[in-house]
Amino acid sequence: MAFDIVTKNTIRDRFKPAPRPDVWKDVPDKDWNNWIWQQQKRIKTMDQLEKVINVTSDEREAFAKSHEMFNMGITPYYASLMDRDDPNCPVRLQSVPSAGEIVFADTDLEDPLGEERDMPVQGITHRYPDRVLFYTTHNCPVYCRHCTRKRKVADPSSSAANKQIEEGLAYIQAHTEIRDVVISGGDPLSNSDDRLEYICSRIRAMEHVEVFRLGTRNPVTLPQRITDNLAQMLKKYHPVYVHTHFNHPKECTLEAFDACAKLADAGCIIHNQSVLLKGINDKPEIFKELNHKLLMMRVRPYYIFQCDMAQGISHFRTPVQSGIDIIEGLRGWTSGMAVPHYVVDGPGGGGKIPILPEYVKSHVGKKWVVRNYKNKEFEYIEP
Ligand code: SF4
Repeated sequence: MAFDIVTKNTIRDRFKPAPRPDVWKDVPDKDWNNWIWQQQKRIKTMDQLEKVINVTSDEREAFAKSHEMFNMGITPYYASLMDRDDPNCPVRLQSVPSAGEIVFADTDLEDPLGEERDMPVQGITHRYPDRVLFYTTHNCPVYCRHCTRKRKVADPSSSAANKQIEEGLAYIQAHTEIRDVVISGGDPLSNSDDRLEYICSRIRAMEHVEVFRLGTRNPVTLPQRITDNLAQMLKKYHPVYVHTHFNHPKECTLEAFDACAKLADAGCIIHNQSVLLKGINDKPEIFKELNHKLLMMRVRPYYIFQCDMAQGISHFRTPVQSGIDIIEGLRGWTSGMAVPHYVVDGPGGGGKIPILPEYVKSHVGKKWVVRNYKNKEFEYIEP
């Protein structure tokens, strides 16, 4: 009887599939659910986009002025989450060019995180003593308008060639202090399963490497990419951590749920890294809903990044206070598991710096006066 109750009300039932716009309603499911079909049918022009949404004149103008600097690319699946009439739709703002992209603020930086400076060989950023970022491709299913690596992503001429992959692997092999490898991009799941397995197997064979992570937005923008084949392949190379990038509850669909379930069932540990984006998720209640959904999807909210000072994304940047207010609105008001770290990535290569609301009211000698989430004060005396 108890089993009946559980099976009739699964968590999965709380997630809804992406609605399929008219333009794709006759596409057979076998194509729609195929990641290669989704990649091949990506929206790259305004004419294609107009078949899905009512494009505004501002969006059309922004596309004309920006597409040579940063391509547009949107999978049919992700486009199906867009509101047809609302240009402020959070999915639309993340994937369709807008006027702010062509405005470069004086404070914008070409390489905001100083990744090139800490690049001992092409394709490896080695900043911290025991871990590296390893770029394996510069392709992504959707080119996020807020991308901090705009300078490289979507530029096919900057993709990692086999020679670069070999040099990266040789660097990791030679540096025995590296125990953690972040396989990144672009999106590493833009690689074929075979190429990805080659990279994973080479890294796993290095005795000094303990863990590796895949930094991927595919569960959000192309969940069809998480196939049984991919999940079973990753299972061979544990511990595998997957760091994904959901920014808004609207992205938590049934397809995304199933993609994360496949990874979690295969033993991957999934964390989410959101970016704080003006007009998209800069409210505590949005993050609360997002993080609750992520926990149901077996994804642990891990970071909220303050939007970087990269060129052409200043229109997405919020005051730092917005991030502090979000943490203030989460901590204590919901499960600790739903409270990520809010961090500023130190411009120029300072690394992730956590920022918290002030919970210490005073500290004299052994006496600490601290406050809780309801602003009630408590004294803690040290031994
Ligand atoms: S998936 Fe990541 S790397 Fe690719 S465009 Fe989006 S933010 Fe940039």
